[in-house]
Amino acid sequence: MEFKVYAKPEPASFRKHPNLPDLEKARAHFSWDDVGRELSWLPGGNLNMAHECIDRHATGTRRGKIALYWEGRDGHTETYTFAELKNLSDRFANVLKVLGVRKGDRVFFFLERIPEIFVALFGTLKLGAVAGPLFSAFGPDAIRDRLADCNAKILITSPELRGRVEEVKSDLPALEHLIIVDKGGREATPLKHYEIDYFRAMEAASDHFVLEPTSPDDFSIIHYTSGTTGKPKGAVHRHKAILGQYLTARHVLDLHEDDVYWCTADPGWVTGTSYGMFGPWSIGVPLVFFEGPFSAEGWYKILEKYKVTVWYTAPTAIRMLMKAGEEIVKKFDLSALRHMASVGEPLNPEAIYWGEKAFGLVFHDNWWQTETGCMQIANLPTMTVKAGSMGRPLPGVTAAVLDDRFNPLPNGSEGLLALKPEWPSQFRTYWNRPDVYDSRFKNGWYLTGDRARTDTDGYFWFVGRADDVINTAGHLVGPFEVESALIEHPAVAEAAVIGKPDEERGEIVKAFVSLRAGFTASEELEKDIKNYVRKRLAAHAYPREIAFLPSLPKTRSGKIMRRLLKARELGLPEGDTSTLED
Ligand code: ATP
Ligand code: MG
Repeated sequence: MEFKVYAKPEPASFRKHPNLPDLEKARAHFSWDDVGRELSWLPGGNLNMAHECIDRHATGTRRGKIALYWEGRDGHTETYTFAELKNLSDRFANVLKVLGVRKGDRVFFFLERIPEIFVALFGTLKLGAVAGPLFSAFGPDAIRDRLADCNAKILITSPELRGRVEEVKSDLPALEHLIIVDKGGREATPLKHYEIDYFRAMEAASDHFVLEPTSPDDFSIIHYTSGTTGKPKGAVHRHKAILGQYLTARHVLDLHEDDVYWCTADPGWVTGTSYGMFGPWSIGVPLVFFEGPFSAEGWYKILEKYKVTVWYTAPTAIRMLMKAGEEIVKKFDLSALRHMASVGEPLNPEAIYWGEKAFGLVFHDNWWQTETGCMQIANLPTMTVKAGSMGRPLPGVTAAVLDDRFNPLPNGSEGLLALKPEWPSQFRTYWNRPDVYDSRFKNGWYLTGDRARTDTDGYFWFVGRADDVINTAGHLVGPFEVESALIEHPAVAEAAVIGKPDEERGEIVKAFVSLRAGFTASEELEKDIKNYVRKRLAAHAYPREIAFLPSLPKTRSGKIMRRLLKARELGLPEGDTSTLED
């Protein structure tokens, strides 16, 4: 079967920051040992992420430097220096120690976006315990599944969220304590015998703590995947992941000493820790952490107020900002902003064009997954960005497109996106799912589960999830390309396509579309959209059916759930919906 490369105009390209040192040039001489030499390590070859991210700054020249700017949902603000964070995370490590937590125990987090999540998570790492962050919008079943899977011993939560845990507590015999963070006395609640008041325990704890020795291979954090393609899996990472996070935060996010950086991802997802905590703090760069919900105005206010220089966000958010229009951007002074990057879903070319118009800057797409721990394929600030491409594999990364027998394909062919093991931030296993873990390694490659193709410049182009690729009349159609063409239509805000079984063609392309404000669904509009895509792509790739929906089903991390659209279309069971957005 052959993949058709659609005839379409050369994608626009942008070149920025031509004078920055080019990591690309270093590709031939790259070694992880050299990267390791830029970190500070601990005696005996030990490595601890909390030491790299907090303690070494707190005991050096950055001790008084602000590490965290927090803005609460009610507008309340707090700042923390590296020295303060060291003191607090040392105290928290002692709180856990007194509770009998030992190296390797699982400590979970179910909190709103408040500063205490940083304190508690780094305190957990200092003790050598394994951190498990959960997204605060999870319901009781999602919480139970993850805590039970990991036999979590401690859960740190808030008065508002603990009710959801209580509902399932009897199913969690390993869970010994709940530590309740009653921030600002938001709710005065009597504590049960297994509940501990965070602030009282912190006050009583010593601020002297000697880091538990952790080797680079000791487990640090478990992140459950987004559940876009099926039941979420617990990807287990090690302390040495910091090497990859450090390198990419420096060279892909282009973070420097005087930057102010905002990662919009929630710490419940891997982006929110790898780049919302570890990468930037390993460089000593201050973070902005915003508790409030998404709104275009609210987000621009944060960018303006904190003079954010580097901004890392996601395609869904960018599409929502596009919906709000570019006029509103002009109301804010965003002149500090100098670099923007995106991850999580394919970034439609339209979003890049819009970003250029609205901010005068280009969103730099990069690709990675929960399992990879850090970015693997990226548009460096020094590279020419080809709109619609994820960029090129980073130095230290060997990526390839494989055929169905797991052998590399030549440029231009579409196939399985794979990476050569192993890199420092590579996941070590799926918790309790070694069989699934093993099944991801074939013929000396790690299979990512995505499909892609390369071009002659070595750029990688995302095609779709392996499960989502559509086979229509012998042609393989990647959903991303069709969706990108759909959202170029002026009426379309968001689009997802699936393969719908069809007697004649095997599958047809079916599109689900939500419209921009001011447009209403009609047969005429449907025809117009179909024609638009047919002209833009190829005859076989246009959606033969279009359904208009008010919004598309997404994971709570903002990924469109095509499997759900497909299950609903075919009347099949919906599968795991624990990460489905309300
Ligand atoms: P699950 O594995 O549970 O189905 P998930 O794959 O969505 O969920 P994540 O690890 O959060 O969980 O997401 C990684 C996936 O997101 C990648 O495998 C890819 O499909 C998609 N992705 C991330 N970044 C990009 C990007 N820049 N371009 C295209 N796809 C991307
Ligand atoms: Mg995945």
